[in-house]
Amino acid sequence: MPTLDVPPASPVKPDKPARIPVLNYHSITVDPGNPATITPEKFAAQMQYLSEKGYNPLTLKQFSDMIEGIDKGPDNPILLTFDDGYADNYEHAMPILKKLGFHATLFMSPGMVEDGYFLNWDQVKEMHEAGWDIQPHGMTHPHLPTISAKNQAFEITEARFQIEQMLGTVADIYCYPYGEWDTSTLRILKEHNFRYAFTIEQGMTTPSQDRLKLKRIFVNGEESIEKWRYRFEK
Ligand SMILES: [Zn+2]
Repeated sequence: MPTLDVPPASPVKPDKPARIPVLNYHSITVDPGNPATITPEKFAAQMQYLSEKGYNPLTLKQFSDMIEGIDKGPDNPILLTFDDGYADNYEHAMPILKKLGFHATLFMSPGMVEDGYFLNWDQVKEMHEAGWDIQPHGMTHPHLPTISAKNQAFEITEARFQIEQMLGTVADIYCYPYGEWDTSTLRILKEHNFRYAFTIEQGMTTPSQDRLKLKRIFVNGEESIEKWRYRFEK
């Protein structure tokens, strides 16, 4: 059969701009009264919910392709991010995500490894092999606007360098400690070709946002599952 009337294949174009919930977790532990922590049981229940509802936790590559309009990405996309690099992420988050086939992103501060409270490099390497993207969060988790531009540059670039050296990856996605930056921070990130930076400004992440001021959704571990899912399903 002739197929002359078949139009040439065109590159994939998303139907509408991506709108991706980027969840912001910290420590997975029992610490009543601390909304930045979530118990292992509640965390497991949230991941089970995402699995049952058909959510697809993205790799950073998938996230980037969606934000740049290169690929439509999977249905029900979501990006799971974990800040600071708490050792309990290895113990309580990695096994659950591995079982469910979920990807995640860890923003770590390499200057804080090896003290027992935070992940060590062996754990970080294992998480990377299990499908986690590992990206920088400053060397020592500083309040960037309170330190000199020179020290900011060290905090940002040395954290990136150490992760890239240890894992053989590119670590050009930043996450602001405490969500804080100033004009020097933005200039340093641009100079070093960081592609994105995540804030703690609340909301869904979309392609219309400044690439160095991407929003996320804080997970308040004291809230119910209903309240948690309302934040990205409303
Ligand atoms: Zn942090």
